[in-house]
Amino acid sequence: MVEEETQLKELISSAEIKERLLQVSRVLDEKYYGEELVILMIMKGAVCLAADLIRTLNMKLSIDYIRCSSYEGQERGDLTIIGEEYLDLENKNVLVVDDIFDSGVTMDSVVKKLKLKNPKRMESLVLLNKLIEKSTEYRPDYTLFDVEDLFVVGYGLDYNENYRELPGIYVFKNSPE
Ligand code: 5GP
Ligand code: MG
Repeated sequence: MVEEETQLKELISSAEIKERLLQVSRVLDEKYYGEELVILMIMKGAVCLAADLIRTLNMKLSIDYIRCSSYEGQERGDLTIIGEEYLDLENKNVLVVDDIFDSGVTMDSVVKKLKLKNPKRMESLVLLNKLIEKSTEYRPDYTLFDVEDLFVVGYGLDYNENYRELPGIYVFKNSPE
């Protein structure tokens, strides 16, 4: 239905995301057994992943967020980070959650900045990792899926603020216009 109307092709279904999320959550449950975790969402793209993750984890947790933005349509611009001044991460276990690890610039910059707030441990989780050469050495600790170098939307990922609500991950069959 969604696919016919908008010329989108499904790459990863919501069932596949759910299944993989359960696997990763069990790994995290074990790793942080008896501890507390701050789920630090990079908004807006991490909204669906974080919302599902906090309901599949079995541990004491809290949520917080920053906003990062670097895209206009499919064009990359400068990275802006908003809201880090409000975070208290001192001596806390922090899991930074983002939608997609593309060049790596966003996660690398965020992790570097947030480490200055003296967390006890800082790890990162991404829904997707694009199979491209990275411009940074940093790698996420947990990845749900590797994907080809295509522009994807759905499950939090947008094109000009559209398509975030789609339950799976999609690519455009032709140009998104
Ligand atoms: P990076 O800094 O790793 O190059 O890019 C990360 C950010 O760029 C992601 O958090 C995401 O917001 C955006 N981004 C990168 N690739 C895509 C894509 O294929 N689709 C969408 N919707 N956003 C992307
Ligand atoms: Mg993002």
